[in-house]
Amino acid sequence: MSQAHSVDFSALPTDLLIGGTWRKGNGGEAIEVIDPASETVLASVANASIEDGIAAVDAASAVAAAWAATPPRQRGEILRRAYELMMARSEHFAVLIALENGKALPDARGEVAYAAEFFRWYAEEAVRVSGDITPSPSGNYRIMVQYQPIGVSVLVTPWNFPAAMATRKIGPALAAGCTCILKPATETPLTALAVAQLLEEAGVPPGVVNVVTTRSAGKVVGAMLRDPRVRKLSFTGSTEVGRILLREASHQVLNCSMELGGNAPFIVFEDADIDAALAGAMIAKMRNGGEACTAANRIYVHSAIYDRFAEQLAERMSQLVVGNGADPDSQCGPLINMAAVDKVQELVDGAVSHGAKIVTGGHRLNRPGFFYAPTVLRDVQKGAKMLEEEIFGPVAPLVRFSDEDEVIEAANATEYGLVSYVFTSDLARGLRVSDRLESGMVGLNRGLVSDPAAPFGGVKASGLGREGGQHGILEYMEAKYTALAW
Ligand code: ADP
Repeated sequence: MSQAHSVDFSALPTDLLIGGTWRKGNGGEAIEVIDPASETVLASVANASIEDGIAAVDAASAVAAAWAATPPRQRGEILRRAYELMMARSEHFAVLIALENGKALPDARGEVAYAAEFFRWYAEEAVRVSGDITPSPSGNYRIMVQYQPIGVSVLVTPWNFPAAMATRKIGPALAAGCTCILKPATETPLTALAVAQLLEEAGVPPGVVNVVTTRSAGKVVGAMLRDPRVRKLSFTGSTEVGRILLREASHQVLNCSMELGGNAPFIVFEDADIDAALAGAMIAKMRNGGEACTAANRIYVHSAIYDRFAEQLAERMSQLVVGNGADPDSQCGPLINMAAVDKVQELVDGAVSHGAKIVTGGHRLNRPGFFYAPTVLRDVQKGAKMLEEEIFGPVAPLVRFSDEDEVIEAANATEYGLVSYVFTSDLARGLRVSDRLESGMVGLNRGLVSDPAAPFGGVKASGLGREGGQHGILEYMEAKYTALAW
């Protein structure tokens, strides 16, 4: 193996960013950031108290009117500079992400490009928010609709895309004219703090973007959501925490964008291009080592091609180079922590006890770090928990089907509805099936749907609202209707 890349941790910001000042937190013991490939401490970051969280709301609120009044073109140009700075430092960000999150460098590089693109896309969208005027049906007046910034926004992000989940929220919030407080995941705060420092350099005025890292997420976020100056919550994370936050947000009837869990079906029909379906399955399953809400969680393969597909998928999975994400040779890094490895093992054991067969993998790796072998299971039976819950690891469960209606019914038999994947060379069938799948997004002959130019989001328990595309900026705006007569 070649030498793993690293960054100079002593040069990275580790304090809270409040009102343009970097300062220590008052929440007690600092937060240690663990390298999931070695279980060693990379750095420690500030631990915010409730008072620190409210100080961030003070800061965001103090400059809210000035930022909303800043010309859209000027806001857009700051975001454009942020895009350029991020691309200029893409390798630094990629290595940092690989180190604190564990994902392999090719995935980390992909994330940086994706993350930066949210700044570029919303730099362009900042000047494209249009309203409309229509005659009332009675003909007596006009209906004028304009969009106004919603106000101070609390952004809570997960550890699986530490850069992209932050920029996907900060980009549209700033473009819309909102100020914000970012609460990144405790596991991966370093990338978020580095993004905030980059935004300062790009010209974001003090107080417009604040960052609080904390061990007491529930208390600090809860207090911010009850502060009457806060008007918006955008959350990406588990459905379980999403439900808690929706309850917290109900006190002030906050506008909520929620990007929650998934349980993506990946359906391969007998007429699919098998190589394309295999390549799609590898991306949909293994991007981020399976730690993505869009990950293919249940792979339904038609009987006619099932054995061939199982064998070839297992071959590709078993050939992946597993290792430290920051090592240039690695294709699959460690999971985020030991609890994640334990959960994956429990799901695999459960499926096997229900009759599934291990084709490859099925075990953790005997080495330091939180590694799990890329795994393919065949003949996973209904009732196995891994068909119902997010696996969030490098495990591909295969299920055999023979009928279109039957597979659609199985695909929809979940509380989740984020994304579905369909592979078929019959376009009419592809569109017919897509129409009937209960998910916010469909990958039709594609294993990757994420794109800053497209509306990302789910139905059912996978969430509320859309991020990205033209929809994303409206999540940070309110429609203002004026009944107009002259
Ligand atoms: P994951 O399963 O991806 O770790 P979580 O939903 O646990 O997702 O976490 C996503 C984000 O929500 C993280 O920033 C985490 O710190 C934060 N979080 C977790 N619990 C709470 C809570 N009770 N209130 C507010 N934020 C929370």
